[in-house]
Amino acid sequence: MGEIARKFEKLRKEVPESIRIVLAVKKRSPEEVLEVIEAGAADLGENYVQEAETMIQALGKNAKRVNWHMIGGVQTNKINKMIGLFDCIQTVSSIEKAEAFHKRLERENKIMPVLIEVNIGEESSKQGIMPEYEEIEKLAVKITQMKYLKLEGVMTMGPVSENPEDHRYSFRKTREFFDRLKTLKLENSDIRWLSMGMSDSYKIALEEGATMIRPGSLLFGKRQ
Ligand SMILES: *Cc1c(COP(=O)(O)O)cnc(C)c1O
Repeated sequence: MGEIARKFEKLRKEVPESIRIVLAVKKRSPEEVLEVIEAGAADLGENYVQEAETMIQALGKNAKRVNWHMIGGVQTNKINKMIGLFDCIQTVSSIEKAEAFHKRLERENKIMPVLIEVNIGEESSKQGIMPEYEEIEKLAVKITQMKYLKLEGVMTMGPVSENPEDHRYSFRKTREFFDRLKTLKLENSDIRWLSMGMSDSYKIALEEGATMIRPGSLLFGKRQ
């Protein structure tokens, strides 16, 4: 067994079964990605449409063994391609983007699970809706009125920091938004995924209630 497969198995054993592990595979080779698929990974995340397309083509029928999550920023001109490649869009951050997806999904008669990305650190370099509950609720309600979108939760990146412990406050705030949305019991939704925590912060994210984590370099090593 390869090093990547071994690390995946170790992580899968360490993290409760109910937690979904979405592996961030940006900049990895198809061989590395195939190794985690063979090791039983069920969910992979890509940041760029073009990279996802190249990866999925390279993997051929093996690509169908996993769910593909869009975890990067949405460019409106790539939405047609995105809905053909991905099984979940984690980065819906505005009503305009939700509508753009919905229009194309309706044409394809395809229902897409989506998460709302919250820019919890209010960083100008990041996408995501600002962390104001009323705005987030408004977006959530709008999404649930679009029948080809299925709202399944909330995603956040958390501000860049050397110290993983700094993420705790951001994760806690995101969890509060997630919990409030859940109590609305909105129709046409199934709010259960709180996607937060990367290689250096997933343990803190789990302590703060994440139900979905997104490690990458923990398994694959540092990116070039
Ligand atoms: C790259 C990336 C990750 C994983 O980061 P690592 O530090 O490699 O664990 C998770 N989520 C998103 C949105 C990313 O872009």
